[in-house]
Order: sequence, then structure tokens, then C-alpha cells
Amino acid sequence: MEHHSYNMEVSSANPDSRSYETNDVTYNFTPKTFTKTSRPPFKATRPDGTVFTWSRSWNNERITNEARALEIVSTKTTIFVPRLIAHGVHSDGRRYLVTAFVEGVTLNEFQNRGCSMPEGRKHSDGAPCKTCLDQAYSNALEFINHTVLPQLSRLKSHERGIGGQR
Ligand SMILES: [Zn+2]
Repeated sequence: MEHHSYNMEVSSANPDSRSYETNDVTYNFTPKTFTKTSRPPFKATRPDGTVFTWSRSWNNERITNEARALEIVSTKTTIFVPRLIAHGVHSDGRRYLVTAFVEGVTLNEFQNRGCSMPEGRKHSDGAPCKTCLDQAYSNALEFINHTVLPQLSRLKSHERGIGGQR
């Protein structure tokens, strides 16, 4: 089980750009792009005051893995994934991937949203709208079970690593 601690949003000089980071990854958004960059190990302090170095196994390689996975899913399936624009390695070893930014509402945001129906056809006034929330979850499950999983299960390889590379 991986635990991600989401820090406060990091302010940026560019008002169109926003970013946040976990211990392992920095995420940066612009109106058109999403960039994910691995973070180097850093010194941190435990609650008892002892200092340790935070690092996650294969933290850099995971980025390349994800970029290759995006390429494979986009070319071998009809599952929609954001278009991969670039990926690579910085001179200090950190790796990055850049995709198109896709605007949309995430499932967890439905918890705080009012009804999505137009005026006059609303299911409810408050937030969340239980009907819309249930519909969003059932749409997502339907998509995962009938589109995503069957296609992923057909992606088989006799090579180790994604695309035979590590
Ligand atoms: Zn509703």
C-alpha cells in the first residue's frame, strides 16, 4: 500500500500554472499540459526527532514505466488516456513525463458537487446530489469492467518490463 501525503499547493509565479508535490513526485499543471517529475531523496525528520533520508524504490524508473504504459495503452487499446507529449531524464537523474492536460471532474469531486442536471430537472438542491453521485460511480464501474479491464487483460508480453525495457 502506497501512502501519498499531499502537501499544500505550491504557489507559482505564473498564475496559469499550478503545482503540488508528494514525497516522491512533483505535479505541475498548465491549461494545456500536465507534467509529472520524480523527486530526489531528501532528509526528513521522524516525530521522535531522528533524521532519515526519504526515498522510494525505483522512484525515477516509475516515471519512464508510466510513459511507456501510456504509449502502449494509447496505441493498443481504445481506452482513453491523456496524449503523451514528452518524457525523459533531467541531468540530475530526475525523470519527467508531459501529457496533454484533460479538463474534467474527478469522481471524488462529486462528493462536494451539487446536482449536474440543468435547472428545472435537478434531482436535489444540496451537495452532494446522491442521484448524480451514484450515477457517476456506476458509470465509472461500467467503464472499468466492460472497457478497461477486458482490453488490459489482452495486453500480454513474453518480455520483462514494459515494452521489453526497464
Ligand atoms: Zn443530480
